[in-house]
Amino acid sequence: MRLTYSCRQCNHSNKMSALLYADRIEMAKKKGVRFDLRCKQCGSNNLVHVDDVMAENDLTIPLVAIISILASALLTWLIWDKGFIEKLSLFLPFIAVAAITKQERTKIQIFNFAKYDSKRKL
Ligand SMILES: [Zn+2]
Repeated sequence: MRLTYSCRQCNHSNKMSALLYADRIEMAKKKGVRFDLRCKQCGSNNLVHVDDVMAENDLTIPLVAIISILASALLTWLIWDKGFIEKLSLFLPFIAVAAITKQERTKIQIFNFAKYDSKRKL
C-alpha cells in the first residue's frame, strides 16, 4: 500500500510512505489533521487534509510474487528426492500471493473508507 495526494496547483499525484499510518485517524494523530507538503512536480506548498490522502496499490504484491516463486523453485529443487513434499512447495507461492493480495486490498479499503471528518465537504 502507498499513500498519494494530488497537488492543488498542477494535479500531480505525490506519493507518501504508508509505513507509519494504518488509517487516517492514526495519520491525523501523528501528523495533524492538516499538514504542509511540498509538491515534487511544481514545488508549491499544499495544505493537505488527511481525508485528501488516498491509499492505492504499490509494488508489494508483484514483489512478494517474484520472491515466493523463486523461493518455491529453490525449495522444490532442494527437496525433489523427498517425494510428495515437492508438490506441496509448488503451491506455496500461490498461497503467499493470495494471502498478501487480500491483506493489501483490505488495508487499502480500510484507509480509503474511514474518513477522519465524515461531515467535511470536498
Ligand atoms: Zn504541483
